Amino acid sequence: MAATLAKADDRGPRSIVILGATGSIGKSTADIIAGAKEAFTVAAVAGGRDPIALARVARDLGAKFAALADPSGYAALKDALAGSGIEAAAGPDAVIEAALRPSDMVMAAIAGTAGVGPTYAALSAGRTVALANKECLVCAGPAFVRQAAAMGTRLLPVDSEHNAIFQALGDSDLAMIEMMTLTASGGPFRTWTAEAIAKATPEQALQHPNWSMGPKITVDSAGLMNKGLEVIEAHYLFGIEAERLDVLVHAQSVVHGLVAFRDGSVTAGLAAPDMRVPIAHCLSYPRRLTTGARRLDLAAVGQLTFERPDFARFPALRVALDALRAGCGLPTVLNAANEVAVAAFLERRISFHDIARLVEQCCEATLADGTAHDPESVADALAIDHIARERTQALLAQGSTFGMVTAC
Ligand code: NDP
Ligand code: MG
Repeated sequence: MAATLAKADDRGPRSIVILGATGSIGKSTADIIAGAKEAFTVAAVAGGRDPIALARVARDLGAKFAALADPSGYAALKDALAGSGIEAAAGPDAVIEAALRPSDMVMAAIAGTAGVGPTYAALSAGRTVALANKECLVCAGPAFVRQAAAMGTRLLPVDSEHNAIFQALGDSDLAMIEMMTLTASGGPFRTWTAEAIAKATPEQALQHPNWSMGPKITVDSAGLMNKGLEVIEAHYLFGIEAERLDVLVHAQSVVHGLVAFRDGSVTAGLAAPDMRVPIAHCLSYPRRLTTGARRLDLAAVGQLTFERPDFARFPALRVALDALRAGCGLPTVLNAANEVAVAAFLERRISFHDIARLVEQCCEATLADGTAHDPESVADALAIDHIARERTQALLAQGSTFGMVTAC
């Protein structure tokens, strides 16, 4: 995709590390960088299990270092990079090394909780982090926010709703904000009955009407769990309490986020549903790039509609909001249980309906055994995450029964 630009920085090209370079966000990031070669250099790229795709993106971008999480892919990665001069490494430590390679900005786009360690390493080394991986904040939000403040560095929101709100906020005073609203497309099941949603197949859940994304976030979007994760993400990112965070279903995915102020003014962030828009905004922040991202044609869109989310048909959103209100580390538990439940759904071990049930039951069981607590550190969050995964696996093995999340 053609993209032209002015230099992102007066000091010369900005050097970027891309974690999750072979995924949906990674490819969009590579597309923006490839279209603006004079503005960026790529210090390192990291991927999970696909050495060939990783080598391709490393070559395309002229990366200096390529790291694959799966150690068994080392030989294939080295072969695929032969003659390129690009250094290859594999294993979890290699991904951390990629995160720590000297750079101006790290794009954190590994899917799921696997992204927490490498992203935190980058933040702790003082890197500016363009944060796509929402699981970092849901799993270990307080530690990330504390570390960003301690290091005097920034978490720039890539997630489209948070990016829209970030742009709509400007430098306004948090106290003068009445409400922040995140919009949700409503996903493929927006107009379906509860009975039909309960029986949805993985193929149906993976058909998102507006966005092309990785499988985990696409399933999260179909049940509105993604919006729940995003409300938790917004809570930590913007330092705003649950009561001032709202969700509206907006099928056109044109208005991504809104900020309502105490004087009655409302500002909003609009764009075509194309992740290259928020990615380009973060990569060049505080400047702007000219990109080939889709343009918004409001006359062609015609109508913009907004409706309240239906918690009865989309219980995952309620479960996530309950977890945020309950506190006590329940967002960490919710995030872990959800990853296990989504994987089980994609393996056809449970129904779509069971995802929210299983997550809620794991949260409930954590509260009931008296171990629930706010994570004190990333290590503590990952320990809570580990226990929640084991608990969810045990519930899966037993077959789950319904529970209710209450405050601890
Ligand atoms: P994808 O599944 O498309 O891509 C995930 C990437 O992470 C791949 O490059 C994958 O490599 C890599 N990966 C997986 N495990 C590891 C690991 N242990 N170490 C290093 N790399 C790893 O996901 P998306 O791009 O859709 O999403 C990425 C993140 O961004 C998620 O947290 C998601 O919630 C968030 N996000 C995504 C949006 C989107 O539009 N896609 C929008 C907003 C947020 P491999 O393929 O080789 O396994
Ligand atoms: Mg989003």
